[in-house]
Amino acid sequence: MDGRELLNLASNDYLGLSQHPKLIQAAVQATQRYGVGSGASRLVSGTHPIHEEVEQRFAKFKHAEAALLLATGYTANLAVLTTLAGSGDLIVMDKLVHASLIDAARASDAQLRTFPHLDLQRAEQLMQRHPTGRRFLVTDSVFSMDGDCADLPALCELADHYDASLIIDEAHGTGVLGPDGSGLASAQGVAERIYTCGTGGIVVSTASKALGSLGGIITAAKPIIDLIINKARPFIYSTAVPPAQVAAIGAALDVIRDEPERRERLAHLGSRLRQSLREAGWPIIDSTQPTPIVPLIVGDERTGLQLQAKLLDAGIFAPAIRPPTVAPGQCRVRLSLRTDLADNEIDRLINAVGLPAHVT
Ligand SMILES: *Cc1c(COP(=O)(O)O)cnc(C)c1O
Repeated sequence: MDGRELLNLASNDYLGLSQHPKLIQAAVQATQRYGVGSGASRLVSGTHPIHEEVEQRFAKFKHAEAALLLATGYTANLAVLTTLAGSGDLIVMDKLVHASLIDAARASDAQLRTFPHLDLQRAEQLMQRHPTGRRFLVTDSVFSMDGDCADLPALCELADHYDASLIIDEAHGTGVLGPDGSGLASAQGVAERIYTCGTGGIVVSTASKALGSLGGIITAAKPIIDLIINKARPFIYSTAVPPAQVAAIGAALDVIRDEPERRERLAHLGSRLRQSLREAGWPIIDSTQPTPIVPLIVGDERTGLQLQAKLLDAGIFAPAIRPPTVAPGQCRVRLSLRTDLADNEIDRLINAVGLPAHVT
C-alpha cells in the first residue's frame, strides 16, 4: 500500500487457498481446456460437465441432496429469497445478518421482520404473530462483523415447531468449521438435519472466502434446487460461472478434505488471539467456535480510526468498520485471521493492538 509492505488482517482468504498450487493448477488447466468464458447462461448452453460435477461434489460435502452454483454469494441469497418468499409470507431474520440477505428480503414481496441478535425467544414471538402464509427463518451461521455463531440446533427446532423454512448463510463457516470442514452445521451436529427441519432448510455458501475463489452455492433438497433452477431470475438471466472458477472450487474441496491441518491451525490462532486480547482487557465477544473473525469494538468512529492508524504504523492493515456497516457506537477494527499467519506475526499483532483505551 503506497509502496509499503503491510501484514493483511482484512482478508477472507482464511485457509490461504487463493494461493494454493492445486487451485491455481486446476484453474489454469480448465481454462486451457474449455476457454475463459462459459459462453451463455446455464439454461441455454452455459452448463458444462464441470458445473454439474462440482455441484454434485459440493452437495456431498455439505451433506445435501443437491447444489446449485451461482455467480456470487450475494446473487445466491437474492435467488433463494426472491424465488421462495412472496406476497403474504413472513421473513424473520437476525438483525445482524449480512447485507445481501437484507437486500434479498427487500427484493421479495414478503413481509420482513428482524429480531435482536441471537434472541430466539423474540424470533419465536414474531413467527407466532403470523398465522397464515409461509414463514422463513433466516440467519448467518458465523456473523461477519462479530465472529460469533448462531445456535443451529435451536433454530431447527423452531423451524419444526412453526413449519418454517430455515435459511442459513454459511459464508464464514464453510471450509472453516466442523470436523470435515463443511461448516457450522457440521460443528453443531446438525449437518443433515438442517435440510429436513421445518418445511426444508436451505444453506448458502460462498467460494469467495475460505475456498479462495468466487461463486455462491445453494445446497438443499432436490425439489427446492429444481424450483430455484426453474424460477430464480438471478440464476436464469446471468451467464454461467467460468470454467476456471468452477475447477478452483473443485480443487478447494480436495484441499479441505486432504489438509485438515489448515482449519486446525486457523482454530488455534482464533483461540490464541481471543485469549491474549482478553488478558489485555479487551471486551471480546463470546463465540461458541474459535472463528477467524475477531473484532476489537471501540465504540466511536474516531477511536476506531485511531486504532486503525496505530496498527498501520506497526505495518498491519485492518480497517475500522463504521456505520452503516455496523450500528452507531459499535465501531470496530475487525481482525480476520488466516492459516498462513506465522506465530511471530500474531505476536506482532497483539503487541501493536496494546491495551484498550479505557485501560491506558
Ligand atoms: C461475503 C458474504 C456474502 C457475499 O458473498 P460473495 O460471494 O462475496 O458475494 C454473503 N453472506 C455473508 C455472510 C458474507 O459474509
